[in-house]
Formats: sequence, C-alpha cells, structure tokens
Amino acid sequence: MNKTAYIDFDGTVVDVMPRYHGILESYLKRNTQLKLDYEKYCFLKKQGIKDHAIVHEICKGYKININDYVVFKGENLEDRYWLSKDIIIGFPEVAYEKLNRLGYNVKLLTQRNSERELLYQVNSLGIKDFFDEIVVLKPLQEKNAKVSFLTDKIYSEDIIIGDSKIEMEVADVFNIKGFFVESGLWGASFAGSKDRIFKDYNTVVNYLQS
Ligand SMILES: [Mg+2]
Repeated sequence: MNKTAYIDFDGTVVDVMPRYHGILESYLKRNTQLKLDYEKYCFLKKQGIKDHAIVHEICKGYKININDYVVFKGENLEDRYWLSKDIIIGFPEVAYEKLNRLGYNVKLLTQRNSERELLYQVNSLGIKDFFDEIVVLKPLQEKNAKVSFLTDKIYSEDIIIGDSKIEMEVADVFNIKGFFVESGLWGASFAGSKDRIFKDYNTVVNYLQS
C-alpha cells in the first residue's frame, strides 16, 4: 500500500516556544529592561495573541513599534542561533518505526523560507534518518503552500499531523485524516474539527497503532 504520513516540523517535531520567546525578549532588551515571563508568554501565545499584544499584557501596557518588530522578527526567526533553541519533542525514531510498520512513508512537510537552514537544523538534531523524505515549502501570500504542493499528490489513506490551521486545512481540502497536536504555537481551539486533538505526534502514532 502506498500511503504517506505528512508531518509538520515547527511546533510538531520541535518545540519552537523558546525561539519565539527568545526573539521577542531580545527585541525588548535592545531598548528596555523589561523581562518577559516565559510561562505567561506561552499561555498567551497559544491563545493566538500577537507578540505586541502579549508584551502589552505582560509588561503593563508597554507598546512596541509593531512594524519595527516585524522586521526584527523576520530577520531572526530562521537565524541559525535562534533555530538552535528549538527542542525535539518526544521520540521521532519511535514514531518513524511505528509509522513504517503501519505501512506509511514518513514525510516531513514544512514551511520555511530557508531550505538550507531547515536541513542544517534537522541534521544537527540528528533526526534526518527518521524521515523518508523532507519537503521544504516557501510560505505563500494568502495561500496555503501545503495545499498547493499536495494537489495531485494525495491518496485517500494519507494522513497529516500538525500544530496549526494549515495542516487541518489540508485534511479538510483533501478529505484525509488530520491530527492536531497541542505541542505547538496554537491551542486546541485552532484545531477546527474537535475529534482528533492529541498531545503530540507520539500519542497520534500510538492511537493509529491501537
Ligand atoms: Mg507548525
């Protein structure tokens, strides 16, 4: 059987909160003495609150220059130093073996501007061998790059695992099973369909096995 498990990277295979929090805090440090409580940041971020509004909330009304910050964030988000803050979630090797045994090809499907840095990161983390293929898509303006890429490539038995609306939209558009994981930047309220919400990709794989 030819079936594929498409697995998102940021927020699914790696915890990206330390990177996102660190970039915002380093921005604040340029001009202020303000500190950004990590737990509070994560809590608000998962509710879909934007970084400038999180600062406003945590730092007692402080306002950052949004345009200036957006440029700063864009320059840093895929910088090698900040990418090194990402932490592997769970056990990719276990998921890979189990998915293979269930008959799935395992494909990492991620949206990043820099394919080179993504591949460097996957190599540095030592998890390259736990994917049969790695696909890096540049984000598209007002379009779902994963939907665009997968058009004409999807089989009905395929599945997708991810932490955002992007992957859930793929599942909806192609009528395949989508699994939302709560390990990323968004809380379960962003999952859309409420019946396939899991803690992380390992629990998804265990569910598929059962
Ligand atoms: Mg993600």
